[in-house]
Amino acid sequence: GRAWDIGKVRTTCPYCGTGCNFDLEIARRSDSKGQTREEVIGVASSIDAPVNGRALCVKGRFGTDFIHHRDRLTTPLIKKDGQFVEASWEEAIAFAASRLGDIHAEYGGDAFGVLASAKATNEENYLLNRFARTILGTNNIDHCARLCHSSTVAGLAASFGSGAMTNPIEDIAKTDFMLVIGSNTTESHPVLALSMLRAIRQGTPCVVIDPRKTELAALAHKHLPLKPGSDLALLNAMAHVIITEGLYKEDFIKTYTEGFETLCEAVTETTPEWAESICGIDADLIRDTARRYARAQRGSIYYTMGVTQKHTGTHNVMAIANLALLTGHIGREGTGVNPLRGQNNVQGACDMGALPNVLPGYQPVTDAGVREKFARTWDVKIDSLSERPGLTVGEMLQGAHEGRLKSMLIMGENPVVSDPDSQHVIEALERLDFLVVMDLFLTDTARHADVIFPACSFAEKEGTFTNTERRVQRVRQGIQPVGDSRPDWQIIGDLAAAMGSPFPYRDPASIMDEIAETTPSYGGISHHRLDKEGPLCWPCPAKDHPGTPRLHMNGFVRGKGKFHAVPYLPPAEQPDDEYPLILSTGRRLFHYHTGTMSRRSGLEEVYPEEHLEIHPDDADDLGLKDHDWVRLSTRRGAIEIAVWMTDRIVAGMVFTSFHFVEAMVNKLTNAATDPIAKIPELKVCACKIEKI
Ligand code: SF4
Repeated sequence: GRAWDIGKVRTTCPYCGTGCNFDLEIARRSDSKGQTREEVIGVASSIDAPVNGRALCVKGRFGTDFIHHRDRLTTPLIKKDGQFVEASWEEAIAFAASRLGDIHAEYGGDAFGVLASAKATNEENYLLNRFARTILGTNNIDHCARLCHSSTVAGLAASFGSGAMTNPIEDIAKTDFMLVIGSNTTESHPVLALSMLRAIRQGTPCVVIDPRKTELAALAHKHLPLKPGSDLALLNAMAHVIITEGLYKEDFIKTYTEGFETLCEAVTETTPEWAESICGIDADLIRDTARRYARAQRGSIYYTMGVTQKHTGTHNVMAIANLALLTGHIGREGTGVNPLRGQNNVQGACDMGALPNVLPGYQPVTDAGVREKFARTWDVKIDSLSERPGLTVGEMLQGAHEGRLKSMLIMGENPVVSDPDSQHVIEALERLDFLVVMDLFLTDTARHADVIFPACSFAEKEGTFTNTERRVQRVRQGIQPVGDSRPDWQIIGDLAAAMGSPFPYRDPASIMDEIAETTPSYGGISHHRLDKEGPLCWPCPAKDHPGTPRLHMNGFVRGKGKFHAVPYLPPAEQPDDEYPLILSTGRRLFHYHTGTMSRRSGLEEVYPEEHLEIHPDDADDLGLKDHDWVRLSTRRGAIEIAVWMTDRIVAGMVFTSFHFVEAMVNKLTNAATDPIAKIPELKVCACKIEKI
């Protein structure tokens, strides 16, 4: 046969928010009939990659086999008599368009719910926004950021005026004190964690606050294994120490902040001794941590979902922001408040307005001027854009449960496995009149659909992802769509045309040109510029603007940084006689999210099944040995899983990941939400264990 040609395409990793760049290696050959066969055969790192250089973690390096996996959906499917039947694109698009149109005619726009995706490109999220707001006529659009950093977006916006990571990853090398809270960085953001490990090795003090002794905690200078759900007590005690010992930056506070007195009053009683009684950390250790952070020249804080996935998530974030405002560790190199965003494009999906209260660029739906601008660009009447903020994911599912929401369109999300209380999610989806899913695979969510559109992976399309440091990076097409799949942007365009409102975009580059027009922070960004100059951090408001790696360098986006009084509240569900242990959930190095991609790659051979981490004292009390199978139950359900005895976690707590549908931990988690950000308390609920 003919020889294979091997080519390379530089693109961005589809897994975590670190946003590593790599080269997809592509083999191509034509047969005698002129048919071209092409395949992604591997991933190579490159020394000139902007974020990661040569480094890649196992997911980026070995996790891309899913692109050609036999489970890929390659043709549209329509459910007939409870069975999926293959359909042509014309038939499936026409069917979906007509059903959506009927539902709109009967119930109006707010009968729809739309889930955008942190796995899709910026251009696709922008387009789905236009589709939801103008064609379906609803602000009911949300995505998985609701479950990870909605409390960051709300908390940091209220404190600083912008809800994003303040400093770039490269600043880890410039900080002289790192506080890492509720972040299993080495497993969840492995290449970013390399920078932390390098800094620790070079002597930068690092304190990790986490109930589990993660790899980073084990290597840090100090590990504070607090009780799950007690973050706010500890953070308020740190503020108490900084204020009562006069360690705050008076000039900075006077010039750049407001509300200092409110905070002083709120933390009068939150002594380290008081916090010790709640979080179990020695009062002197709390004092020492507060002093070290305050006395550092360039102190920095990094956090993830241990902080945000709580019913006090927004307040937790504000408590972190309080510490940075007290000490002036913000707006300078090597400092900052740095939420590490989870998914590859969760920052971008938020930026593109995949949130119910804002249009792209965090421009509020309640602002008539904003609505007018988008109405003009999208060629619709201003009255057709609703001024009422829409529903969050949880509210949409509740609405479906109660029969208020009639139809959902889900692009590349899998709420049955990722959202709390799975049984409730399944019942909600089953009660819909019509569910459309766009995905690569027949996920546990897609099984409940009436129509499934086969979507393309990152390797088959053009676009951009925005990583955790607000860096907009190119996604480049390496191969033609697998089977008869289509990129999400094209599917949305096809649906729009079939519903009588065709979109004017030629390609993702032209969508980005419109994003630049409507979204001030992306104003200077285009595919052409990214290809020529490399990635750009937003805000990048003009074509000659170099981008903004560090926020708040010349004062805060909201004017003055604002202190907030954020009193401690215990977790929504406490252990009791019936459910005596605390269950917490998170991620593993070898897999990602609901496992739809990573579990269809070589990584599955390395890490094929899940287990439950349990402290040896608790295992002894329950008469358990390593690898014994147990029934793990909460008030919402039960799963069966093998135990792994480890002193990585504090006694009284068990931990597992949400990657494995066979041990679907979100059957058990608590849907109690933060009243501001509506984020569920996935990190803490009461559970019990029985040997089986
Ligand atoms: Fe991909 Fe994140 Fe791993 Fe980098 S650290 S290779 S972005 S999963």
